[in-house]
Amino acid sequence: MNRFAIAVFAGVSTVLLGAAQQFQPGNPAPNFAAAEVKTTNLGSQTYLLQGEGANVVVAVGNDGLIMIDTQFAEMNDKLAAAVEAISPRPVRHIILTHFHRDHTGGNAFFAARGANIVAHEAVKTRLAAGTTNGLTGNVMAAYPEAGLPKQTYNNAGVMIRQGGRVAEVKHVVGHTDGDSYVYFRDANVLVTGDIVTLGRYPNIDVPYGGGIDRMIEGVDVILAAGNDNSKVVPGHGPLGSKDRVVEYRQVLVQARERIAKLIAEGKSEDEAVAARPNADNDAKLGVTPQQAGNFVRVVYRSLK
Ligand SMILES: [Zn+2]
Repeated sequence: MNRFAIAVFAGVSTVLLGAAQQFQPGNPAPNFAAAEVKTTNLGSQTYLLQGEGANVVVAVGNDGLIMIDTQFAEMNDKLAAAVEAISPRPVRHIILTHFHRDHTGGNAFFAARGANIVAHEAVKTRLAAGTTNGLTGNVMAAYPEAGLPKQTYNNAGVMIRQGGRVAEVKHVVGHTDGDSYVYFRDANVLVTGDIVTLGRYPNIDVPYGGGIDRMIEGVDVILAAGNDNSKVVPGHGPLGSKDRVVEYRQVLVQARERIAKLIAEGKSEDEAVAARPNADNDAKLGVTPQQAGNFVRVVYRSLK
């Protein structure tokens, strides 16, 4: 992207992508005061918790809990209350699917209550250094030591065990450079992080290792995990299934093809947005023009 395009993008899209590390692009800022945490029983002592920010999954072991992601710090009290309503046992391990604040904001809070924070080593690197939005310069400040993962793993992944429960944690590309998905085999629940978001377009964090091709690659890994009957918990959006992930993959593939074509025709990023290449899927997903445009921008940027 040339300097003119960056200037145009920054001018036009500050509101759109300025908070992309915090919020899904184009979505309004969360209303934490009004937020409630909804709990869904996925069976086999495994629960989905939905509030503001990431979908959270809790697996109950006979002497403690394994939790996936922590939502925003602003949700700490409500999330903790929802977890306690499931089980009085302590959260022993928290596995982070990636570094974004809507998935990691509660780290220090839950660590202070005794949770071991576990993540891919790249997540720790990002959180320890702080991150800057490549377009707007918005800063996500470095996390204090208390909010950093205590246990890290490399691309080989890790198995986290607690009280008879096993979280199979695997590294996957490419919403960021440190994504993981988690499989609870006993409950047949796949927790995808933001490699999969249902009912909306995904964000792709291009400055921090995300890209549309890597994202499709990651979706293929998730489709190969578990089995046809796996319950799929996306990073955001409703509980899904493998069929829903197949539909989602198709949306990504179509966007990639269409935007690559516009790039080959010499279209600028703004021209690509204006061409509304995904109009059919925009309508199916019911996204706003702003959300539709943001998705075009991140795909465009990852192909450029
Ligand atoms: Zn994210």
